[in-house]
Amino acid sequence: MVQADHVYKSFGALQVLRGITLEVEPGQVMCLIGPSGSGKSTFLRCVNHLESVTAGRLYVDGDLIGYRERGGKLYELSAKDAAKQRRDIGMVFQHFNLFPHRTALDNVIEAPTQVKKVPRDKAVARAKDLLAQVGLSDKADAYPAQLSGGQQQRVAIARALAMDPKLMLFDEPTSALDPELVGDVLAVMRDLAKDGMTMIVVTHEMGFAREVADQVVFMDEGRVIEQGDPQEMLSNPKHERTRAFLSKIL
Ligand code: ATP
Ligand code: MG
Repeated sequence: MVQADHVYKSFGALQVLRGITLEVEPGQVMCLIGPSGSGKSTFLRCVNHLESVTAGRLYVDGDLIGYRERGGKLYELSAKDAAKQRRDIGMVFQHFNLFPHRTALDNVIEAPTQVKKVPRDKAVARAKDLLAQVGLSDKADAYPAQLSGGQQQRVAIARALAMDPKLMLFDEPTSALDPELVGDVLAVMRDLAKDGMTMIVVTHEMGFAREVADQVVFMDEGRVIEQGDPQEMLSNPKHERTRAFLSKIL
């Protein structure tokens, strides 16, 4: 579902991604871990072309992301075509970025009605199902300010799912939450994984990684240092840098 082939990304002289090659099979969950500044968010942002790569290629469901290839050359997609690709990729951030003046339900129907032109009644019915799926049936009419951080994050997940994405990207979805609210969000993500959603999750929740991930990837300084089965890698890391990192967060 996702293939990264020697992906490089620089900001000016700063090399942030230095040849990331990895693959996520359909229905698999990859957890991406690594120290601050190692390039985890940048990688996710390249996957949906919020950032353009400096070199290398990214494919989602066989589609080259952000570029069109013609005669061996790559041409960057127009903003419109890039946005079209991005519709199929859901993204959930640390800070939930809900529309503050819209109810939970209106947040969820926004993209399907505006972007996909789904009729309102159909979008509302689907949004209610999605709010039920994230455990918020009773909060459809609440405004973000009336919801806890964990509830807002679950609305954000429902909002991403409303576009029927092929792939979901999560960038530290629980890092901004009070500890007692983390579990509900992780439970929603766990259910999503069980239902077969392909996911890349940047997280330091090693319990989640151990239980849900099919593979864990450890990044440092823009490179993949180690990757593998979560049980194996988290209990028996082979690389010194992975060991040092895990000893700090576990
Ligand atoms: P964290 O765990 O703190 O979220 P991260 O692994 O997600 O870290 P990134 O946010 O990808 O790291 O950042 C990697 C490096 O790229 C950092 O040095 C950061 O300052 C730099 N960087 C990220 N975005 C930009 C940008 N738009 N312009 C310039 N530098 C950037
Ligand atoms: Mg980050």
